Amino acid sequence: MVEVRKDGSQILYNTTRHAAFHALKKERIGGFDIDILVTGGAGFIGSHLAEALIKKGYSVNILDNLSSGHKRNLSGVLDNQYLNLLVGDCRSSTDIKEALKKVHAVFHFAANPEVRLELADPKKCYKQNIEATYILLQRTRKSNVESIVFASSSTIYGDAVTIPTPEDYGPLKPISVYGASKLACEALVSSYCYSFKKKGIIVRPANIVGPRATHGVILDFIRKLKTNPSELEILGDGTQTKSYLYIDDCIDAIIKAYESAEEPVTICNIGSEDQTNVTELANIVIEEMGLKDVKFKFSGGVEGGRGWIGDVKNMLLDVSKLKSLGWKQKLNSKEAVRQATTDLIRELTPH
Ligand code: NAD
Repeated sequence: MVEVRKDGSQILYNTTRHAAFHALKKERIGGFDIDILVTGGAGFIGSHLAEALIKKGYSVNILDNLSSGHKRNLSGVLDNQYLNLLVGDCRSSTDIKEALKKVHAVFHFAANPEVRLELADPKKCYKQNIEATYILLQRTRKSNVESIVFASSSTIYGDAVTIPTPEDYGPLKPISVYGASKLACEALVSSYCYSFKKKGIIVRPANIVGPRATHGVILDFIRKLKTNPSELEILGDGTQTKSYLYIDDCIDAIIKAYESAEEPVTICNIGSEDQTNVTELANIVIEEMGLKDVKFKFSGGVEGGRGWIGDVKNMLLDVSKLKSLGWKQKLNSKEAVRQATTDLIRELTPH
């Protein structure tokens, strides 16, 4: 395993240096004496989460193999003494063992986050999601870890008939291999927490948007429109209706769920309270890019107007549980899409 220095250079992981690092952190005045491991912490959600946890006073280790994440996502905290970036893999028992040293809580966010079948084939989903989670959980058994926060997904509900969908909805019948892999991981997390006396917090986010996003419909539309500003290919019939939540509201929800969890295993939906459809979303992206007269080309869809195999056509989560913890979203779905579009256009514009 290698560690990334403040100047961006990488060094072989050195346990003596790590011990010194932790000794340094303990001198901190105020804050929490809790070290948290964020797997996938250089990714979209993980990097925002790491920043927020440090701001709250936690010390954060990140384990990321930089497959879709980037060091630049952590530029605001890379030189913070309470952050330690370990470039390694969740499927490596040795890397996890090092990353877990002195850690009391793990936020497991590393995964292949792609729902589309061609980008998340079954083998990839099994290896990067299920196998990685199993190896991580095995390592937590003989560690100081007390809490495990797992990033599941709204896709575990499949085509739910109850909308908004509450956490106790069932039977759970995911329609994507990605959703199935997340459901399998939920089962593993729950069973390990009950069997080995850890606290489990399973969060089920739905369509999180914002700066640093590595995938998703907004990024897809911006990239397509940059290539061809007069025509936009929309996968499916454009009526797919979903909720979109801005990253800041999501991070607030994850931390609230973690800090308030009392049951051995808590499950919590994270999503916006309203929806918008893909055509409306495309219009917002077009407006924010300052384009006019863009022709829509609906293509590539599969049965019933879905965008791809495994695309849930109508999705809205019941977030009453989250609201009972004092959580309140600041941006609705359309506002979140608009803000995320502005953020992503800025990011994609060369400085
Ligand atoms: P992301 O791709 O930006 O982040 C994933 C991170 O995990 C990346 O930094 C990547 O390099 C890292 N990673 C992947 N495999 C790894 C491995 N084996 N070892 C170490 N690091 C590894 O994706 P994201 O959108 O930030 O998603 C974060 C988590 O939240 C994922 O588990 C995803 O499934 C889940 N989730 C995301 C959304 C969303 O709307 N973005 C919704 C529901 C659930």
